[in-house]
Amino acid sequence: MLGMGIKIPKEIKHILGKLRTSGFEAFVVGGCVRDLLLGNEPADWDITTDAQPEETQKLFPNSFYENRFLTVTIQTGSKKDNLKEVEVTTFRSEAKYTDKRHPDEVKSAETIEEDLGRRDFTVNAMALQVQSSKIKDQNDQLRQSYSEASNARFKIIDPFNGQKDIATKIIRAVGNPEERFSEDALRMLRAVRFACQLDFAIESETFDAIKKNAAWLRAIAKERVRDELAKILMSDKAADGIELLKDSGLLKYIIGELEKGVGVTQNRHHIYTVYEHNLLSLKFAAQKKFNLEVRLASLLHDIAKPEVKGGDGPEATFYNHDFVGARFAARILERLKFSNETIDKVALLIRSHMFVYDVGVVTEAAIRRLLKRVGPQNMQDLIDLRVADRLGSGVPKAQPYRLRHFQYMVEKVQYDAVSVKMLKINGNEIMRILKIPPGPKIGAILDVLLAEVIEEPKKNEKKYLGKRIKELNEIDLSQLRQMAKERIEEKKEEEDLEIKGKYWVK
Ligand code: ATP
Ligand code: MG
Repeated sequence: MLGMGIKIPKEIKHILGKLRTSGFEAFVVGGCVRDLLLGNEPADWDITTDAQPEETQKLFPNSFYENRFLTVTIQTGSKKDNLKEVEVTTFRSEAKYTDKRHPDEVKSAETIEEDLGRRDFTVNAMALQVQSSKIKDQNDQLRQSYSEASNARFKIIDPFNGQKDIATKIIRAVGNPEERFSEDALRMLRAVRFACQLDFAIESETFDAIKKNAAWLRAIAKERVRDELAKILMSDKAADGIELLKDSGLLKYIIGELEKGVGVTQNRHHIYTVYEHNLLSLKFAAQKKFNLEVRLASLLHDIAKPEVKGGDGPEATFYNHDFVGARFAARILERLKFSNETIDKVALLIRSHMFVYDVGVVTEAAIRRLLKRVGPQNMQDLIDLRVADRLGSGVPKAQPYRLRHFQYMVEKVQYDAVSVKMLKINGNEIMRILKIPPGPKIGAILDVLLAEVIEEPKKNEKKYLGKRIKELNEIDLSQLRQMAKERIEEKKEEEDLEIKGKYWVK
């Protein structure tokens, strides 16, 4: 089976060939060998060699070497994202670890076996030797001969039985798991990540070592934890991943707040506990291939429910869980060093996730008000979140088709004005017509116009607005502000009441 169907891109063959004709050893290594054996396209290509970085650099003028980890990056000129830059790393062994984070020093190793021995899991600890029957010195000829797949032969260097673990779908630490996790505690989280991405099981000794030492994760930089978490969430098995994090004891050190929902029952609108529902919502968000922000929001949208729960049994309430939850989620994502953009987006989605969408109840004006509050660019994500939420509720009337109807209505109003920018009159025109200087009054007038146009889109018309601003000019500033506010907020409260009546969960 080995080597069957494996295709090595010509850029990679070129690099391997050049290193080897210069007298060095060179292998494709790590995650990309695993991906090749699984028949998947590697996310990136890594090469390992016994050439020192300076020697590699000399062979490849289009390369740079600017880290301490013996890695030279070669620019191949390829247009493919996963081939543009290829990393060539000198055989490494990692010597001493004192802080469960990173080696105190990075040392080059003598052999490929030594290099493979410092890698995390058996399935990631294989190397592929690509042999060509026609190795030539001339680069052009070389490129030519290597690009012919039939000339390539493969040898797999697999000292830790990674191929067997691939065949039986197992994530197993290389060597003693506890020792390996003490060197770098992130590996515990990577075990869960690979289990999710590959749909593999974690071997029992490896899993026990995670359970025993999960607290070591505290030593790890939050950025590294974040990146692994994002990969877990973006995998098809995202919800299983969170469950695995909980069972292994790692979740406490990532999003411990989720565990507060364990065993917390909801009310007559839900059959699942808060924790189960959060996970199920994520499961459906992953199944529907929603983006990272929506997946984060699905997982965290009810994070505040244990905190705000009122009463118990079928009539329990969760007032304000959306607003409080948005704050909790923002705090969690800040702690995990997500970007401000991601944090703001997820918080907005969670804050807004209780919007009314019932056929016959929701009006076009209500949809325009919602669009004004969340911004048209966030509407699809908000609907996606609600789809995941409803599917994850497990009640028979999850009825996501009603959301499709809502979506249709959103499309129907898409050209209606929902922001001041979309009004058929602007500040300059108002100043010219009313002969007034710049000042806060202009903005206040625009806000009132917008509130009125949101109620009745046909009022967004130059002649009408030109007349209306003359009437509004007679009203003083604080009253204008009040008018704009009342319109939007009065309606908002109406909506909230409807939700409370309908779901008992507002
Ligand atoms: P992907 O690129 O899909 O995220 P990968 O397996 O290629 O997965 P990388 O983080 O790119 O993972 O690392 C490449 C290889 O380097 C891994 O396959 C593994 O052999 C090794 N490696 C990466 N991180 C560690 C680590 N923390 N401890 C030990 N070995 C590691
Ligand atoms: Mg990789």
